[in-house]
Amino acid sequence: MPRIAMISEHASPVATLGGTDAGGQNVYVDQVSRGVARLGYDVDIYTRADNPEEPTVRQWSDRVRVISVVAGPLAPIPKDAIWPHIAEFLASVERLAATEGPYDLIHANFWMSGWVGARLRQRWCVPLVQIFHALGAVKRQHQGDADTSPVERLEVERAVLASADRIIAQCPDERDELVTTYGADARRVRVIPSGVDVARFFPIDQAVARHELGLPLDRRLLVYVGRVLPRKDIENVIRALALLRPRHLPPFGLLIVGGETDNAQLDQEPEMRRLIEIADRLGVRDLVMFVGRRPSDRLRWYYSAADVFVSTPWYEPYGLTPLEAMACGTPAVCSSVGGITYTVADGVSGFLVPPRDPPRLAERLELLLTDDPLRQRLARNARRRVEDLFTWTTVSERTAEVYRELL
Ligand code: UDP
Repeated sequence: MPRIAMISEHASPVATLGGTDAGGQNVYVDQVSRGVARLGYDVDIYTRADNPEEPTVRQWSDRVRVISVVAGPLAPIPKDAIWPHIAEFLASVERLAATEGPYDLIHANFWMSGWVGARLRQRWCVPLVQIFHALGAVKRQHQGDADTSPVERLEVERAVLASADRIIAQCPDERDELVTTYGADARRVRVIPSGVDVARFFPIDQAVARHELGLPLDRRLLVYVGRVLPRKDIENVIRALALLRPRHLPPFGLLIVGGETDNAQLDQEPEMRRLIEIADRLGVRDLVMFVGRRPSDRLRWYYSAADVFVSTPWYEPYGLTPLEAMACGTPAVCSSVGGITYTVADGVSGFLVPPRDPPRLAERLELLLTDDPLRQRLARNARRRVEDLFTWTTVSERTAEVYRELL
């Protein structure tokens, strides 16, 4: 059976999701590894060791192992601080692969693992499949001086693109970026959208879900799920709440799920503190509740408890949470950016709004908070859309097709 070296320097399937550097990429690595394993591949996931308790080789699921690679401190560090240790990471992968390998194909995630993959491709003489998850040029454009990526990032991305045998883009937007901004060879790019585990994310009766979570039944709930970062622009949602407040609407509130800890320690999370201050200033503090981080298998309760899922990032390379919400039968109101323009069908499974535009967001939220038949129609469509187009089974089959082209 063909053996795959899945390289993901910072995003491990073992990590707890929801914190600063653990999100969609971790889910992707986990789900695609399991998915292609079911199709007959043996997968080893190489990821940076950040915990001395973690064994070097761990059987993660059927045909999938996680291999911890020592590079830098045996403790969590921000992903942007991994780059100085990347040569050590490469050397450690090579050493480990000498006993755990050999491999028939490398599937690298993110630009740093792409750098590693490009070198291993040469040394092992096997094909390289690259997926970036996020692109340095897009990040720089949106974050400017706040972008803490190492300066080499764009140059490395270009070099990886030149040596990868196939590049997976998660949406047409990303493909265009790769081809036009980076000059990637379009013939080597495949668009494979990421998916949702529909057996984990499914609709639960709203009243049952609220009862389970101890949430009130007497108001409409907007729910945001995801990392609590400036670029996710939860501030925009809070500003929209302030615009909605004076209108004569049924009572409503906003639940924010995500963060560094399970119980939302506001004093330790600067972005949460900043958001609270804004909510206070705008007189909507009482409408906003931070829940903290929740494990993935609890999230369907939150998505199902919601009337509307809301997420309005400045930019979004892909965005799994709108799909998860849709899988739970909750309409998604999201920024029309990146992968979201592809996953959320405007007026069908939710609404797309421009980023950084509280009035437009407020207008769409008002519509969904007041028009029950519309909301119910979008909710039904949402689940159907995910089942038709965005399951991990489909993603894994299409990824395995790419492997087959190369092997
Ligand atoms: N997530 C989670 N618990 C939380 C918050 C988020 O499990 O408390 C998961 C969420 O379900 C999703 C991922 O983290 O699968 C976030 O992925 P997304 O692509 O939406 O955003 P990213 O984090 O990659 O920017």
